[in-house]
Amino acid sequence: MKLRHASAAAAAVVLALTATACGSGSDSGSNGDKITIGIKFDQPGLGLKTPDGSYAGFDVDVAKYVAKELGYSEDKITWKQAPSAERENLIKNGDVKFVVASYSINEKRLKEVDFAGPYFLTHQDLLVRADDTTITKVEDLNSKKLCSVTGSTSAQNVKEKLAPQADLQQLGGYSECLTGLENKAVDALTTDASILAGYASQKEHQGKFKLVGLSMSDENYGIGIKKGDSELKGKINKALEKMVSDGTWDKLVKQNFGPSGYKNEPAPKIAG
Ligand code: GLU
Repeated sequence: MKLRHASAAAAAVVLALTATACGSGSDSGSNGDKITIGIKFDQPGLGLKTPDGSYAGFDVDVAKYVAKELGYSEDKITWKQAPSAERENLIKNGDVKFVVASYSINEKRLKEVDFAGPYFLTHQDLLVRADDTTITKVEDLNSKKLCSVTGSTSAQNVKEKLAPQADLQQLGGYSECLTGLENKAVDALTTDASILAGYASQKEHQGKFKLVGLSMSDENYGIGIKKGDSELKGKINKALEKMVSDGTWDKLVKQNFGPSGYKNEPAPKIAG
């Protein structure tokens, strides 16, 4: 009888603990068997919300692979849009469990969040109209109208080192810059070549734009997580390592960047 009581009490403690864990889980991007992941919605090849309401791209596929390794099948994932300037906040507020959104690891961001990875390396480049002959090098930007995105390393690099004299407009997303480039409100769009190649190759844009082909920075994409969550970081890094070693990384890169003709770098070494 005594023993029974003891185990009932133990069970009650376990229940209480589980309830607490679920409670705290629900405000940190996961809730029992569900998980919320931050991605881009407007970047073909990386993170794109398609007209039928599904999601596609390398970041989406990486997120699915990692989620599966963490125990969440695809139907348990809620996708949340993570604009460049919102990523740290989404993580800090617990709106998402992690962010896979062309999210470069850098010192400034590491003060606010942690990163698993890196899982991809690309470089900052320029997209101009197909008939442009005036922008061929970084210095040409100093007399031009340039568009990039608020909260991105691309905008920061331009302002701080690449072309401080450029007339820089910062918008909420790269797709908005693209509209400006098309209707000549701006002369160039700058961000990662992996993103620009996706836009240039979209059916509706074919023949309209070209990449200049500059390599103006190294952008190492990481998976953003809450600062100090070393357990989650360890689990995600393990999943990323598996993704590379089992051949999935190569397959997903080909699938997602093949159509844009983007020439990718080899898989970067995961920092651990
Ligand atoms: N990778 C860069 C960054 O994290 C540019 C792309 C983006 O804004 O998502 O800022």
